[in-house]
Formats: sequence, structure tokens, C-alpha cells
Amino acid sequence: MARRFTGSFTQQEAIPTGAIDAAVAVLQSGRLHRYNLAPDEIGEVAQLESEFRDWQGSAYCLAVTSGGQALQIALRACDIEPGDAVLTNGFTLAPVPGAIRAVGGKAVLVEIDENLRLDLGDLERKIAASGARMLLLSHMRGHLCDMDRLMEICDAAGVTVIEDCAHTMGAQWNGKRSGNFGKIACFSTQTYKHMNSGEGGFLTTDIPDFAARATILSGSYMLYNRHGAGPEAEAFDLPRYDMPNCSARMDALRAAILRPQLAQLDANIDRWNARYQEVERVLRAYARIATIALPAQEVHVGSSIQFRLPGFSDDQCRATLASAAARGVELKWFGGKEPHGFTSSHHSWRYVAGQSLPETDRIMATLFDMRLPLSFSEADCTLIAELIGETVAEVSQ
Ligand SMILES: *Cc1c(COP(=O)(O)O)cnc(C)c1O
Repeated sequence: MARRFTGSFTQQEAIPTGAIDAAVAVLQSGRLHRYNLAPDEIGEVAQLESEFRDWQGSAYCLAVTSGGQALQIALRACDIEPGDAVLTNGFTLAPVPGAIRAVGGKAVLVEIDENLRLDLGDLERKIAASGARMLLLSHMRGHLCDMDRLMEICDAAGVTVIEDCAHTMGAQWNGKRSGNFGKIACFSTQTYKHMNSGEGGFLTTDIPDFAARATILSGSYMLYNRHGAGPEAEAFDLPRYDMPNCSARMDALRAAILRPQLAQLDANIDRWNARYQEVERVLRAYARIATIALPAQEVHVGSSIQFRLPGFSDDQCRATLASAAARGVELKWFGGKEPHGFTSSHHSWRYVAGQSLPETDRIMATLFDMRLPLSFSEADCTLIAELIGETVAEVSQ
């Protein structure tokens, strides 16, 4: 019988003991709502906001209920109007086009290249053709495009950049943290991202007006002075009357779980990258497998890994999924016609006007993806990558 991996691709590490103790203390207090505070108390959520702001190196930080809500609030804070065109990646996860649609925008999808980054030539063409004033840039699967060039293009065209950092919390381009390039950045602390509170997210910005608008949008009522990393009171003079409440506040329980995890984040990034590098090292030895190039300017966070099988037919891709699964290796394939479990194909976003993306379709047709939870050891990673190599060799015979 062939070798088999027996671990789980969806098993995260346990929540650290310190986080469990902090969560129990919040439960014992009974004060779970972020504004349910004693007069001089700085709550868990406000403390988390200050700590994440300092770690990220932004001026302001707001904690919210999810990454998807952060995206919607960011678009609203940038004054999106119904019918406005918003540029975004042709390959990303459904919360991104979903956020654009939910706030009444029209997604204009931009092609990606073989290394899964936004195609900047196509971006320039689509800025010109659509007249869009906003780009919701998704750093899909942690792959940053040339951020210096991207900002030049967008600044020259007057396009506001919102960064979706759901997969790049901790990543950098040319020494600058992902999230500090655009006007606003959005992060997720959903279970499969880089910190785990079940659901949750952050929005960061350096612009006081955007921070104030986002805070009111999140449902702060007139309690915005109880925030940990918000702007001065004057910034709220107009937004407090103008911004609709979207009720997307983070609660004290999740914040209590996240603070100890933030303290471990840098160490965890190194652990992810050790796993990523091991899988990549083994996969590179197989001629049929095309790994994704990581540019020298990028500090990557390898919480998942992607590879392509150029020349494989749909049937061969399906056979790869099945025979990897028989070896205990859970792969995702982005070329399937019907969405299974997740929706990253623009063909299944029927709430977005249909668009022709021949390059993105060609690349996704043989694109595979695999999670790398920290519950895997480096030896697990060696075995998993060897099993993928065996699978590909078997299918291509
Ligand atoms: C997970 C994710 C989000 C937001 O996720 P939530 O589940 O709403 O926290 C946004 N963009 C991408 C690319 C994602 O994978």
C-alpha cells in the first residue's frame, strides 16, 4: 500500500492558554459588549486596537466583526455611491466581489498573471476603460504585486487603493508592511487566517477622516471616545451625523482571545514560512509542477501554498485531486466548473456582470492550492509534498 498522510488540513492549533484565561475572565465579568465598561476601564477591544495599530505601524485601527465587514466599511468610508465601478482581482475569494456588490458597487475584474498577482498592464487598461476611482486590491494567497509600480499607476490616475490583507497580515513589500500602501487596509481574524477568533477583522488607515467614518459605520453610536486607536474628537464632527450604523463591532471575548495571539504572530509567521519552504523545496524537484515565484522584494507569509500543472487537462486535474485525496492530501483546484466549498472563480459570482478574463481562466484551469496549518510538523510537510509529487507523476503517465 502506498504511503498516506493522516493529519487534518483544517485543524488549527489550540488557542493559547493565556487567551483562554483572558476569555474566561471576560465571561466572568459578564461585560462582553465593547462599550460595557467601568468608568475608567480600557476594554479588551480598545487595547487590542492599540496593540494592532502599533504592530502594523498605522496611525489608526478599528476592530470589527469580520474581514468582509471591514471591506464593506472601507468602501463606504471612501464614499462609494451606488453604481460606482470598483476595480478588483479576477481571482480572489467571494467576500471581495461580495463586498463591492453589497455596497452597490460594480466590480470591474482585472486579470492576474502566472504568479497570481494583479496584471498591472490590464489594470492600466481597465482604469482607462472603466473610469473607476477605486481599487479593492486583494493580495490573494499572500502574493503581493509590484506595490511601488501599482501605487504609481493608481496615484497618477487618482484611483483610491483599499488593500485586502486577509492573506498578508505580516507580509511586506520592499520593507513596508502590506496594508500601509493604500488609503485603508482590511484584515481578517477568521479561523483560517493568521490569527483565530472564529470571526473578526481589522481596518487600519493613516487618514483621520476615514478612521472616524469607519468607526461610526461600525456602530460606535456616540461612544467613539472609548476606542483605543482612533483619531481626535474633531475628526468625528461630520461623520457622527453622516455615516449610517452598520453594526459590525468586535466584542470583548474575541478581543481577549486575539491579544495573546498577536504577541505570538511574528513567531508564527516564521513557523508558517518554514513549512512553506519545505513543501516548495520538495515540489520544485518535479518537472511537471510549476511553483509560484516569490519576488525578492516580498516578505511572504506562507499559510497556504499554490502550484500549477501546466499542460494538464481538466480530467487530469480531477484525477490529481482524487489521487491526492486517496493519499490523505487535501488539495483545492481552481479550475472546476462548479464551486465546491469555496468560490474563487469569477464564473460563479453571478451577482457581478459577466466579464471576459482569458488569462485568469487559463491560469486557474491548472491551479492548485493547499492549506498549511501550524498543526503540521515540518516532517508532515516533507511527506505531503512527496505525496503530491507521486500523485502528479502517476496522473501524468
Ligand atoms: C477570508 C477572506 C476575506 C474576509 O474574510 P472574512 O471571512 O469575512 O473575515 C477577504 N478576502 C479574502 C481573500 C479572504 O480569503
